[in-house]
Amino acid sequence: NRQANIRNFCIIAHIDHGKSTLADRILEYTGALTQREMQDQVLDKMDLERERGITIKLQAVRLQYKADDGETYLLNLIDTPGHVDFTYEVSRSLAACEGALLVVDAAQGVEAQTLANVYLALDSNLEIIPVLNKIDLPSAEPDRVKNEIEEIIGLDCSDAVMASAKAGIGIKEILEQIIRKVPAPAGDPDAPLKALIFDSHYDAYKGVIVYVRVVDGSIRKGSEIKFMATNKKFEVIEVGVFTPHMTIVDELSVGDVGFVVAGIKNVKDTRVGDTITDARNPAAEPLPGYRKINPMVYCGLYPINTEDYNDLREALEKLELNDASLQYEPETSTALGFGFRCGFLGLLHMEIIQERIEREFNIPLLTTAPSVIFRAKLTNGQMIEIHNPSNMPEAGKLEYIEEPYVKASIIVPNEYVGAIMELCQSRRGEFVNMVYLDTTRVTLTYEMPLSEIVYDFFDQLKSSTKGYASFDYELSGYKQSKLVKMDIMLNGEQVDALSVIVHRDKAYQRGKLICEKMKDLIPRQMFEVPIQAAIGTKVIARETVKALRKNVLAKCYGGDITRKRKLLEKQKEGKKRMKQVGSVEVPQEAFMAVLRID
Ligand code: GDP
Ligand code: MG
Repeated sequence: NRQANIRNFCIIAHIDHGKSTLADRILEYTGALTQREMQDQVLDKMDLERERGITIKLQAVRLQYKADDGETYLLNLIDTPGHVDFTYEVSRSLAACEGALLVVDAAQGVEAQTLANVYLALDSNLEIIPVLNKIDLPSAEPDRVKNEIEEIIGLDCSDAVMASAKAGIGIKEILEQIIRKVPAPAGDPDAPLKALIFDSHYDAYKGVIVYVRVVDGSIRKGSEIKFMATNKKFEVIEVGVFTPHMTIVDELSVGDVGFVVAGIKNVKDTRVGDTITDARNPAAEPLPGYRKINPMVYCGLYPINTEDYNDLREALEKLELNDASLQYEPETSTALGFGFRCGFLGLLHMEIIQERIEREFNIPLLTTAPSVIFRAKLTNGQMIEIHNPSNMPEAGKLEYIEEPYVKASIIVPNEYVGAIMELCQSRRGEFVNMVYLDTTRVTLTYEMPLSEIVYDFFDQLKSSTKGYASFDYELSGYKQSKLVKMDIMLNGEQVDALSVIVHRDKAYQRGKLICEKMKDLIPRQMFEVPIQAAIGTKVIARETVKALRKNVLAKCYGGDITRKRKLLEKQKEGKKRMKQVGSVEVPQEAFMAVLRID
């Protein structure tokens, strides 16, 4: 019986605990790839992922494994991202599995994202197999970490696998436990087709390729399918699996994970989380799908070259297909011209999208400072959302303003508790509680404004704890707050793209810092440039960029050509990232400087 020999599983872990390395070892062990093809972290397909060492998009791969019981099993491994910004992707992969390997670094122990991911897996009723990784490290303490998992998560660790993904220890035991403990898929092969779309991507030749997990029924070339959310119908051109190369097969049946090509040209027809059914014999109800995900931060994306605007729109359309959490709408700025207001799950997500647009689509971009979504109650009783600081209502029309708060959990060794408390307080955090995990580590919980953590909180957290703190947060709701809009004026002109919404008590200090930073960032021009920060009509800080006296090249005395060329190239390099704002050239960094807090 084929269905009884299928196992669908994913790997969940805190970032850097070794998930991608373990996935590589499993691929190697099951012979999915030849030695020549084996390259570190093969599941991290995007260059960006490889460079940053993080997994962004989930990837699926089908493996064959001959177990000790003599049977050959089909294993579908779905990789999941480990960063706090991508929890949404994690829950998508979980819905396509029956089991999860919980990888915990035996030298580090349970971290914030370990917990967040385990809770998601428990919510999806997955069978969880604990794996203690990195036991090759001299600092590994598998017994202590086992205890921690049992105490904190309440998961039985008597069978936990002792593994080293790096040294290839424990891989067979992991595969055997998957066979024994993870249930086979439970669907009905004779029921009408139900397949969950968990991802998709756009191919220039084949159109939209949808990644599915078949729950009931089967799907093959020639099948007439229907997308239940959009009611769009298509004829299937090919179906296949990832080995990890895309390989065409005759049929995808219950429990299979693979892809479907159906000549779908319009990105909007397929929706991640939707159910595919048989057009002639449709299922009565779609699968539960996914919780709608809302962006947490917004920023403006503007092409440096105005003529790239349409290409930028197309790039966003393509990226959106792969990434349902990305949102965008056209926006105009007096200072920057035509662009898009984009919503992201978090800062890392924003950086990644920005980098992909520049690399994959070759469009140089200017991004404005990220901002959270504020809510304003107007004097006429209306409640509005503010996605862009420059849309803040005038003081006279404003009843009050609210900002989003998060519940932040920080896991940290005891000796850093003081440093963390200081950091959280300086970011307007309100202490909730402190719970000891064991004798050496605690979880601190704070209620904090999202706007105080979106920018560099994570970096600050890491640097004030020598990298030992781990962090997770979830939105807890909106609270009224004393917020004001601060404008920045360059050479007397207000630059809308530089406005920020700040807490009133911090406005003067922030205004001063911003002006000082800008002064260093804005290159000297042929004339003097005053930089001012203002709330309403009141100027609260001022600095001046002195006028340029000499031509940069004058210093070279006409002699050294290479040096001259280098200088010119350097200037050109700098120029790429500049935008003419009124009479002043402003570099990209200046748009981010409004957020720097220290
Ligand atoms: P991920 O973020 O969970 O995908 O983690 P990676 O697989 O990218 O691994 C993070 C780092 O830990 C990399 O430098 C790996 O080489 C290293 N690593 C992974 N597994 C082991 C292991 O078993 N032992 C040791 N010593 N290092 C490991
Ligand atoms: Mg990884």
